[in-house]
Amino acid sequence: MRKKIVAGNWKMNLNLEDGKNLVAGILAGNPALTESKQVVIAPPFIHLLQTGVQIENQQYISLGAQNCHFEASGAFTGEVSAAMLQSAGVQYVIIGHSERREYFNETDSQLAQKTDLALHNGLKVIFCCGEPLDIRDADTQNDYVAAQIKAGLFHLDATSLKDIVIAYEPIWAIGTGRTATAAQAQEMHAHIRQIVAAQYGNDVANDMSILYGGSCKPANAAELMACPDVDGGLIGGASLKAEEFLGIIDAMI
Ligand code: PEP
Repeated sequence: MRKKIVAGNWKMNLNLEDGKNLVAGILAGNPALTESKQVVIAPPFIHLLQTGVQIENQQYISLGAQNCHFEASGAFTGEVSAAMLQSAGVQYVIIGHSERREYFNETDSQLAQKTDLALHNGLKVIFCCGEPLDIRDADTQNDYVAAQIKAGLFHLDATSLKDIVIAYEPIWAIGTGRTATAAQAQEMHAHIRQIVAAQYGNDVANDMSILYGGSCKPANAAELMACPDVDGGLIGGASLKAEEFLGIIDAMI
């Protein structure tokens, strides 16, 4: 069954107390969640245990991490493994965010390794893709995104795809206040679903949640989420304020 998901990516924001208050604010809003309408909260690593305790009785709010390392363990000072995340109660991990690809030079093969380790450790993956502005201006975004998805995911078998969520995040829309139009989002999401269908069949593709990310806010969320192939959002800036995050959750159909 295809789920609607709103995932909050706090990035490198909020100290422990602010994070605790934010989660408390989200819970106080008592969002109307169900098996098919769910939330993921992805705070920085240091928040995970605290956030996990706060949401432990929430059936439809999951704990997410923003990254994991591409090796299982070892001498990688400062890094966190997929197994550690699993042991901390994490259920989802974001892999391939454009900020990680750009600022930390993460390669397609590293992202494929991370995905394997995440799945091996029982985590679900929110796999990010999306084109920079010059690619959009050249109108080659479909090929660009297809290549990212093939490189990161197509080594997986069809069974593993049930634990993959794809987040389409055009880089020119992330944190810029410039949102893709609903038509642009729908076009790309349909394209992504078609790429998945061509490799894994219609059932796998139709079951997959494909999220939109990029300056999504309460004011534009309803229009984006009304698109037939947009199954929710990966939310950065607007996930840092309970009322904004709740507004986006409310916009989910
Ligand atoms: C993101 O970084 O995943 C994101 C979508 O950020 P923002 O909502 O701030 O554009």
